[in-house]
Amino acid sequence: MDEFSFINLIRPHTYRQSTVVKGIGDDAAVFRQSVDDVVTAVDVFVEGVHFSRSTMTPYHVGYRALAANLSDLAAMGANPVFYLVSIVVPNHWDDMELEQIFNGMKDLANVYQIDLIGGDTVSGKELVLSITVIGYVHRTKARLRSDAREGDAVFVTGTLGDSRAGLYMLTHQGDYHDKAYFINRHQMPSPRVRFAKELSGLTRVALNDISDGIANEASEIAEASRVTVNLNKNKLPTHPSLTQFSMELQQQWTYFGGEDFELIGTVAERDWTKVLEAARKTNTPVKKVGYVSQSVGETGHVYLHEKNKKILLKKLGYTHLK
Ligand code: ADP
Ligand code: MG
Repeated sequence: MDEFSFINLIRPHTYRQSTVVKGIGDDAAVFRQSVDDVVTAVDVFVEGVHFSRSTMTPYHVGYRALAANLSDLAAMGANPVFYLVSIVVPNHWDDMELEQIFNGMKDLANVYQIDLIGGDTVSGKELVLSITVIGYVHRTKARLRSDAREGDAVFVTGTLGDSRAGLYMLTHQGDYHDKAYFINRHQMPSPRVRFAKELSGLTRVALNDISDGIANEASEIAEASRVTVNLNKNKLPTHPSLTQFSMELQQQWTYFGGEDFELIGTVAERDWTKVLEAARKTNTPVKKVGYVSQSVGETGHVYLHEKNKKILLKKLGYTHLK
């Protein structure tokens, strides 16, 4: 298929957002300004680095790539409205597979009523997919990593480690409990857009999405806010069937697994009930997993507490303390 027919194939017939002045089909897209702040993020996915065809269908490649981007907007508390897609296509990907990539994105875009308004298509050596998302947030409500304060409650949505467990099942033959569930969490993660939007009534929330593992994202909040994040080991939410794996794998995936695209956040204790209310309204599991304390000495640390012990949780490993 030539580039022209391809663009015709992926181009939407109508736009859901009334602010679109010109979508696909000119030199650039045009949309009308909103009174809110504009929030934008971009991610690049490279075949063989960020995904593999042995564990993902083309449909999942598209779905997951857009999910990862929407998760970034959720972590800013933003309402997504548009996306643009740049794709480098190698010869060994056929037209049907390309269409499937766009179908994966389209299905997720339908869920959030967002519009594809542009992109670029070129040929190259390996498949590279880059998505740009655009959203809006009320001017005082962008959810920054630097907004955690001493005394805050720390919460996490969903369960941790599912995506890594799913990837493990895809790459290690065997009989597993809840195999379909875990694989689905890996291939089709749900960004927590609605839950984050539902928190908009709160004056202050620090948010980060879990793309690399809670150890990493908790420490990003701790560093940006110059505080210490304390996590209660026994409260970190995991799926009951994660226990079918060795303790070592369970811990590895829970702390460092990543790609669950859940949210970690902090709020003032008095706002905790409002978080629960947002969770109930959007049908999102949420759990209080710890608290924020003032840093003594170095800031930006994350501690994992268990009974009377605490362990310094490093971004990519943990060190035992007395
Ligand atoms: P130009 O030569 O001006 O860059 P193109 O021929 O690359 O224009 O693109 C024509 C139209 O198709 C533009 O509106 C562009 O945004 C859109 N488009 C091209 N590739 C994609 C893609 N992969 N996804 C979405 N829109 C695309
Ligand atoms: Mg172009």
